[in-house]
Amino acid sequence: MTAAPRDPVAPGGTIGILGGGQLGRMLVLAAARLGLKAHVYSDTRDAPAFDVAAARTCASYDHRESLLAFAQGVDAITFEFENIPSATLVTLARQRPIRPGAAALAVTQDRLTEKDFLTGLGIATTAYAAFGTLEEAREAIARTGLPAIAKTRKFGYDGKGQWTITHANDLEAEFSCLSGAPAIMERRVNFAFECSVIAARNDGGDFVAYDPPENIHGDHILRRAIVPSPLNKDQAEKAIAITGRIAEALHYVGVLAVEFFATRDGHLLVNEIAPRVHNSGHWTLEACVVSQFEQHIRAVAGWPLGDTARHSNAVMDNLIGDEAECWQKLAGQPGALHLYGKRESRPGRKMGHITRLLPLTGERDSA
Ligand code: AMP
Repeated sequence: MTAAPRDPVAPGGTIGILGGGQLGRMLVLAAARLGLKAHVYSDTRDAPAFDVAAARTCASYDHRESLLAFAQGVDAITFEFENIPSATLVTLARQRPIRPGAAALAVTQDRLTEKDFLTGLGIATTAYAAFGTLEEAREAIARTGLPAIAKTRKFGYDGKGQWTITHANDLEAEFSCLSGAPAIMERRVNFAFECSVIAARNDGGDFVAYDPPENIHGDHILRRAIVPSPLNKDQAEKAIAITGRIAEALHYVGVLAVEFFATRDGHLLVNEIAPRVHNSGHWTLEACVVSQFEQHIRAVAGWPLGDTARHSNAVMDNLIGDEAECWQKLAGQPGALHLYGKRESRPGRKMGHITRLLPLTGERDSA
């Protein structure tokens, strides 16, 4: 636990949240636990976070009058997704504090800026190169080697905007998928496993982190997060220290997640930074004293950061597409079931998650 920063939002105050998905919904619930209200701003009429918020605005993210009215009704502003237009943040930042700030978001919104930022800090990533034309894509592959993954620089998530290139002959066909969007080429990492650090920093510079989970993906979407991860103590400390350096360099306020590849020879490569609460941290709701959602609200509201201690091992499984349709069966199983209230399931859409707790041991339990 950390000291209280200046000018906190007191209980009864309102946190403005841009974005109304499941992350926003869980942030609203965490705010309520602390006696804070939430005003959710989303451009989607049936946004899951609207169901639980004290106040709602449904408008596009560039609607100036709606943004100004939203800002008037809140004490501090945060966001639950990173693809917010920068002009929106400029408009809002003139009215109320936005945490994390626009600068941190700008670095992480663009995969190239993000990788250059990490490289500038001396933090290892996979080999990468930017490209815009087919000729530049060929040059990029010459630098990264194959297999490689082409990714759009902006607006990609859950594998959207990503194409694997195994043979140089595939390049032309895959290039056309990009439809001219600026992109980067990344060498595909033959990792031993993936993991992440979920951490928080407040505006006084205090920093806390959770135990890193191992993350298992299918089709580039997170399927399962397990704590503890296979990282040894030194590796876990190193991953947390890297996350701390990133948070410090970004003057970050709030929860952030740093995703890592753990290579077969024991090295850590940063895959990406998420400037928000993260799917791989959902298990903190049940397995930790203070969850990532409450932690984020605390940082945004200027409260002392909370205890990240983990009292159980945990396995969190996402419920994707039609997997939540058997909710009665799931509700009868051990574990904490979370359903996001989305009316319609679609392939790849995150509909809920379930977290099973296991006794805390030094060892990893079989998942
Ligand atoms: P991203 O949206 O960049 O986090 O990618 C989603 C998932 O795709 C990652 O968690 C990995 O499972 C996989 N992936 C992305 N980039 C790479 C890479 N350079 N090497 C290996 N796997 C990757």
